[in-house]
Amino acid sequence: MIITAKPTVSMCYCTQCGSSFPILRTNKKIREPGHLKKLWCNKCKKETNFIEIRGFGKYTYEDFLIEFKYGNFSPEGERIESHWKKFVSEHKRGDN
Ligand SMILES: [Zn+2]
Repeated sequence: MIITAKPTVSMCYCTQCGSSFPILRTNKKIREPGHLKKLWCNKCKKETNFIEIRGFGKYTYEDFLIEFKYGNFSPEGERIESHWKKFVSEHKRGDN
């Protein structure tokens, strides 16, 4: 059996304005869900943290929307409530 490392596409979402763009990932290193990544945002015109969301895993776009909507990112792009899972589940409950 031959295992090939195919590049996968991850979407990155700006923690400040919510804009997104795809990046190609070729490494197989597994990142934690909702991994924060410093990138240049064309809309904010500054380097800030982006959330990386892959096509699989525990962190989804919906999770990002909840964190974004309820202001879980500081102006520096850091998480205010570091346990995003708890934060997201609490706000999910509040919405339903
Ligand atoms: Zn931005």
